Formats: sequence, structure tokens, C-alpha cells
Amino acid sequence: MLTAPPTTRPIQFASDNYSGMCPEALEYLVKANQGDVPAYGDDGWTQRAADTFRSIFETDCEVFFVFNGTAANSLTLASLCQSYHSVICHELAHVETDECGAPEFASNGSKLLLAQGDQGKLDPADVERLITKRSDIHYPKPKVISLTQATEVGTLYTTDELATLGDLAHRYGLKVHMDGARFANALVASGKTPAELTWKAGIDVLCCCGTKNGMGVGEAILFFDRTLAEDFAYRCKQAGQLASKMRFISAPWLGLLETGAWLRNAAHANRMATYLEQQLRSIPGLEILFPRQVNGVFVEMPPALIDDLHRRGWAFYTFIGSGGVRLMCAWNTTTEAIDELVGDIKDVMGR
Ligand SMILES: *Cc1c(COP(=O)(O)O)cnc(C)c1O
Repeated sequence: MLTAPPTTRPIQFASDNYSGMCPEALEYLVKANQGDVPAYGDDGWTQRAADTFRSIFETDCEVFFVFNGTAANSLTLASLCQSYHSVICHELAHVETDECGAPEFASNGSKLLLAQGDQGKLDPADVERLITKRSDIHYPKPKVISLTQATEVGTLYTTDELATLGDLAHRYGLKVHMDGARFANALVASGKTPAELTWKAGIDVLCCCGTKNGMGVGEAILFFDRTLAEDFAYRCKQAGQLASKMRFISAPWLGLLETGAWLRNAAHANRMATYLEQQLRSIPGLEILFPRQVNGVFVEMPPALIDDLHRRGWAFYTFIGSGGVRLMCAWNTTTEAIDELVGDIKDVMGR
């Protein structure tokens, strides 16, 4: 019998990409594993998944599938920019802090310009400052606003906030890219439709959550402005991001979309984070750092507590500021796991 390799602990709050595949994605993966089909995306699964995206987003967008989020973001930004252009993003943006320079690499040097903003959201005034700061030939010409929905600190842009940034971008001839690694979490939390949260609010291209939502691998890229997708397939191929057995990315995507699992998974993760936040708020000495709007809770903990929790085998990231702990919930997080973590926190703090 096969046994799983050892893990640090059966439960964790490190990231929604620690979890496995959800049953619906796995079911479609197995279904797609029958017979031979054409390679490189010329198969029925890929066609159906792309059509389902078009129907869910109520628009005739161009759809591509790649292996991961870094590739999705980097190749998309590269396709919107020439090497002498720049991309305006939040200082906490994943494209800036967690992609090892991939956007600059893929674009042959397009520069990221960092904007400020509370709660992980771009401040339109600061974005406009960066756009208008210089117009001479010595400054990398701003070409894209990149924003993350839901943000890196678990907050949401409202549709009005998106539209403000969209208007600003388009007024100055810039495009808008949305990093939607947690788009489904934002979608269910906002109560808006996929169209309202993207192209109707001025988003030109969306990199859409597969992995963190419950897939094994794979992100989708939706170009709402089809002209921006010209030659994008070549870019994917050159970057090693064209899966030859594409059906094993597109079929699980179809499983998420067709069964509604992507929304159920996101709603569940958000609900678990709500419960976790409630439990943490009942513990004196802990401070919740950002308004919790999706599936992550950010909490200020004493360093000794963090050390103790790590010693007990709990996995979580502490990368935002000093003492800021990120606790992430996923499609498979349970209330029992939360109770156990909260129990350990109370135990340590009570001593
Ligand atoms: C996880 C994540 C990504 C994608 O990361 P990969 O590890 O490359 O799949 C992109 N943006 C944000 C905000 C993320 O959290």
C-alpha cells in the first residue's frame, strides 16, 4: 500500500496552496484520463472550459491556461508592456514581493513602480502621482496598473474602487491587470457577478485562481480586451507554459466551474476565516491587523507565542511586518482544526 510522506502536522494555516485537490477537480481529472485527445489545448475539455468561462463572465473573452500564478501574472504583464514600459502595483503586491522578478524577466525589463495604499489597496492619488510624475524619455513609461483581488492582506476592492482605478488607467492610456489568485474568495464575499467585478469595472485582463481554490495545478487567464491577447499563445509556448496534455489543467477547471465548486470552495474558506477571526477576537492580547474580508486572518502575536506555536508544529507565515501572522483557510479547513489551533494559543497564553 502507498503511504503519504510525513508532513509537519496534519493541519496547518500556512496557505491555501498546502491543501490537496478538491473532489470535483479530481473527479474531472479522472474523467479526462480516458482515451486519446488532441494535444496543446485542441481538445474538447479545453474548449468547454474556455466556453464556460465566457458564459460565467458574460463576455466573449480570450481564455488561456498556464501552470501557475507567477507565470500567469508575468506573461500577462509582459504582453501588455514593451520593455521600456512600467507597471504600477502596490508595494505589497505578489508580483513585487513573491515572484522573484519574473514580471521584469518575462518582459525583458519592464519596471515595477510601487504605489502605497491602506489595507493592501492601491491609493488612486498615489497611482496618479506615479503616472504623471514624469513624461520625459528617461522615465519608464507607465503602461499598466496591476492590482490584486482579493489583496495580499485579505481585503477587497469594492466595484467603485475598481472603477476609479480603471477610469484613471484608461484616462492615461494604461491597461488594468487583476491578479486574481483569490478571485473566487473576493467574488463570493462581494456578492457581485464575475462580470461586475472585472470587465464592467474596467479590468482588461484577469489571472484567475485555480490552485488556491482547489486544483492541483493551473491558472486561467482571461483577456476581456481580445486585442491584448494577440500572439499570447506564442508567449506561453516560449515560456514553457503550454501544457501538451492541456486537458489535465482544463478538465479540473471545468470541474470547478461546472459544478459550482469554485464558489463553494471559496465560500467555505471565507466562512472558516470568519470563525477563526471570531475565536481569536475572544483572546485578550491578540490584535487583528486588517479588516478580514476573505479567507485570511492577519493577527499580531507576541514573538514568544509564535515560537511556541511553531514548536508545536503549526505552520503559518509571518512575513507582513514584525509579529504579523497570516492564518489562511482553504476549501478543506475544518472548525476542528481551528478549535485545535485556538486551544493551543489559549494554552500558551494562559501559562
Ligand atoms: C499564490 C499567489 C499567486 C500565484 O503564485 P504561484 O505560486 O506562482 O502559483 C499570485 N498572486 C497572489 C496574490 C498569490 O497569493
